Order: sequence, then structure tokens, then C-alpha cells
Amino acid sequence: MMRGFYNKKIADCFFGSDMRIDLHMHSNVSDGSLSPSALVQLVHDNGVELMALTDHDTMDGVHLAARTAESLGVGFIPGVEVSTGWGGRVIHIVGLGMDPESAGVDAFFRDVCVKRDVRGRRIGERFDAIGIHGAYEGALSLADNKDNLSRTHFAHWLLQNGHVSNYQEAFDRYLKTGRPCCVDVEWPGLREVIGLIHDAGGMAVIAHPGRYSFSEDWMLDELFKAFWDMGGEAIEVCSGSQSRDADEKLAGVARQMGFLASSGSDWHSVRGTRPAPGTQPQIPDDLTPVWRFLSWR
Ligand code: AMP
Ligand code: MN
Ligand code: MN
Ligand code: MN
Repeated sequence: MMRGFYNKKIADCFFGSDMRIDLHMHSNVSDGSLSPSALVQLVHDNGVELMALTDHDTMDGVHLAARTAESLGVGFIPGVEVSTGWGGRVIHIVGLGMDPESAGVDAFFRDVCVKRDVRGRRIGERFDAIGIHGAYEGALSLADNKDNLSRTHFAHWLLQNGHVSNYQEAFDRYLKTGRPCCVDVEWPGLREVIGLIHDAGGMAVIAHPGRYSFSEDWMLDELFKAFWDMGGEAIEVCSGSQSRDADEKLAGVARQMGFLASSGSDWHSVRGTRPAPGTQPQIPDDLTPVWRFLSWR
């Protein structure tokens, strides 16, 4: 069975505490720029020994990435970054070690990707209303996987067509929460997402906890407690998409609450500002890395 295959890969590269890992990256199966195999090649070139592919709301790239990883001798964990709603915020939960063939996984993500497309059409209507036409079709044309339309594709289309002068401006002016072309999605709830990950044999990890802009500090603590109570296992202590200050605070949270620790670059493409695969900070020695337990489930 597939899990046996992945578990063996993990067990083989188990030893050595200074192993370089990267457990959060995107391919062009969601909003990254490289194909799964080109991404794995880059990961290998960067000296990463254990990686996870974690595309947004799809595991469709995992098989190709796993094959390339095996041929290059890179340890590979099948993953996904699931969009969920909690406390009125969009929270990203990384699932690691899930079997993509497990019952319900495919249908779950197919539904979510339909929501992405419906949202995309509505975003297009918002742009129409402010005199920017063809945004939905344009964004879709830039998505290598037409079934996984992202706000990122809108941002790139806006930039390519001169509606903004840089990528970030697309979010700041139009696409981020509270801006005129942001359309909310009712993402699956936190409990449902953790259940899906566990049912597929995986572990649940809060992605980049340092990036959620809760108005009060205690709200982030409430997220950690709720996640813990629902059986969530780990948090990203180190992420290329949060600050080094946040990494340090989150190491404290993991120590205090007993979460396992993960680390990922959250790399999407060379155009972005995220650290290259494997160059994000690695897990502090005194914390227990999440991958230690993946082969035991
Ligand atoms: P989506 O999942 O389609 O709503 O798109 C979310 C993706 O857009 C994230 O994974 C990031 O890659 C990117 N993104 C979200 N918010 C921002 C922001 N404020 N600035 C830049 N990129 C963002
Ligand atoms: Mn993204
Ligand atoms: Mn994310
Ligand atoms: Mn990500």
C-alpha cells in the first residue's frame, strides 16, 4: 500500500539531527510556478533530505513528486495545505503523511476546488464592477491547473496587464481581506479538516501561525487550544512566511503546549520573497520534529 512505501522512505532517512528538511512547498498544481518534478529537483539541488509537497487544497501533485523524489533519493512526505475557517479567519492547516488514495480525500478537495472556481467567477464580477474586465478568464489562463484557481493567479494577471505595478499591490489594493475584490469563501471548519487528515493517516499542523492577524494576542492562544483539543499534533515553529521573532515565540508555544514542531519555506516561485526550498530556519534541537512520528501511524 502507498503508506507503506512512504513510511519506508521516511524510515530510511530518519537518522542525523542536522538533516535539512522542508515540509511546506507549492507546485503549479496549486499556486506555485514549478511542476512537482521540477520542484523536487530544486529541493534536491538545495541539499534537502526530507521534503513535503503541500499544495493548497489538492493532493494531485503528490504522485509525480513522490516518483521524482524516489529517483533522486530525497525523503518524501505526501502533504497538503488545507484552507479552513476558524474564529472568522482563514487558517491554513498542513496535513502531512496523508494517503491521497484514502476514502473521501479526493471528493473533499474536489468540493473545495469547486468553491475556488465559484469564488473566482465572483471575483471577476467585482473587477467588472470597477471597470477591470476579463479578470476571471485571465486568471484562469495563468493557472496551470484549471481546477485550482487562486487569488495568486488574479494577482499575476493584474500585474501582467498593468493594473498594478507589483504583485503585492494586487493584494493590497484589490484582493486581500477587506479590499473591494476579496470574496469570502466558507472553507471547511477546523474540526472537519483535522478529521479528514487523521482519517487519511496524516498529522495536522498549523501552518505559519505567526501570520494570522488576530486583533488580540489571546485569540491566537485560543486557536492553539482549540486545535490541541481537536487532536491537532503540530505547529510550524519555523516558516519562510513568518518573521524570525515569530519563530522564537512559536518554539515557546510548542515547548509549553507539547506540540510537535515543523519547518517549511512555504516557497512558491523565484518571483516571490520566500526563502528558497530548505533555506528557512530548521527546528530547534530541543523540540520534537513532526516527521519522527509519521512512520508510526
Ligand atoms: P487563496 O487560497 O486563493 O485565497 O490565495 C491565497 C494565496 O495568496 C496564499 O497562499 C498566498 O500565496 C497569497 N496571498 C494571500 N494573502 C496575501 C497577501 N496579503 N499578500 C500576498 N500574497 C498573499
Ligand atoms: Mn499560496
Ligand atoms: Mn498558507
Ligand atoms: Mn503555503
